[in-house]
Amino acid sequence: MPSDGLSISIKDITKTYGDFFALKDVSLEVNSGEFLTLLGPSGSGKTTLLMVLAGFTRPDYGSVKFGTEEVILKPPHLRDIGMVFQNYALFPHMNVEQNVGYPQKLRGVSKEKIKETVNNALKTVKLDGLGHRGVGELSGGQRQRVALARAIVFQPKILLMDEPLSALDKKLREEMQIELRQLHDSLNMTTVYVTHDQKEALTMSDRIAVINDGGLMQLDTPNVIYRSPNNAFIADFIGESSLLSVKVSKKTAYLGKAKVLVEHPLEKDGDFSLVVRPEKLFLTDNKSVDINSFTGTVEESIYQGESQLLIIRLNPASHGDQLLRMRIPNGSAALSELPLIGSKVTVGLKKSDSYLVE
Ligand code: ATP
Repeated sequence: MPSDGLSISIKDITKTYGDFFALKDVSLEVNSGEFLTLLGPSGSGKTTLLMVLAGFTRPDYGSVKFGTEEVILKPPHLRDIGMVFQNYALFPHMNVEQNVGYPQKLRGVSKEKIKETVNNALKTVKLDGLGHRGVGELSGGQRQRVALARAIVFQPKILLMDEPLSALDKKLREEMQIELRQLHDSLNMTTVYVTHDQKEALTMSDRIAVINDGGLMQLDTPNVIYRSPNNAFIADFIGESSLLSVKVSKKTAYLGKAKVLVEHPLEKDGDFSLVVRPEKLFLTDNKSVDINSFTGTVEESIYQGESQLLIIRLNPASHGDQLLRMRIPNGSAALSELPLIGSKVTVGLKKSDSYLVE
């Protein structure tokens, strides 16, 4: 049941509650057929933005276009969107089929047509055969599939999802992330997905819009956001990182007394943070021109299943007194030479993995 997704153009959206700005001048474009995630901590404004798209919240000013059509004054039921919420919002007194068919019943669609499309939708979410079950007789994952089937039953051009997997346990959540993404790909709708779970956003999205304090901080592919976050907030919020204090003077970066090579040009002097992803560090004695090397002492070594986490205190005399986290994947050759607690190590970080943020 493919439907061609509509692009979404959000311009200068501002929403206040009293003198509090829930959204400040947010502008972003979602491409047709794209899976875009709004990612941010609790209270950052993600749901408010989704509700503006759905038409349940009227912004103070700004514009929302679906394709070329301005929809800001259009009521939710005329916006051609499917919605899935965190708490499923299923009707407990209806069975699965009735729940999924409800939006079409509201629209006055014939019984035969409803039966056909409901069956199709249930097949799409792998619930065929369960149409007569009461929703109380389903698992959490199955209930979420019913909510999804209901959202896609009339083949909307845009699918909006607000933390749809947060009530599920970790394993099921991870399975459903892959399934949702596959479903998105097969239906070709434009999807806007809200989550505060950075791993979920990295797994599922074509692009991620990082929202904080009602503002858009960065909009890019998961790869770019992970590799080169715009600022210290994003570096800290997405993935695991050590933020090391660095000074830039005359276009050269220094970690303590040691020069640091970075991937991008240095345009101004001042205090910055070097973003170090723990899995990008390696043990080395190589002094290559495109590798930063730091010396320190292993303070902790923690077995964590898939990897070993080392906490390294950098040599205060050369790098300033700072801690660095390093991960060595289990099964890698480096583990056979795992340094003991208290030993001195030199760790390397490629220039191409070295980014500064303000
Ligand atoms: P969460 O992940 O916790 O759902 P969120 O990023 O979705 O958070 P929003 O629900 O968009 O956050 O809320 C953004 C801010 O706006 C919050 O500080 C919230 O308290 C405030 N807010 C939302 N709705 C209202 C309202 N009706 N009246 C007053 N303040 C509101």
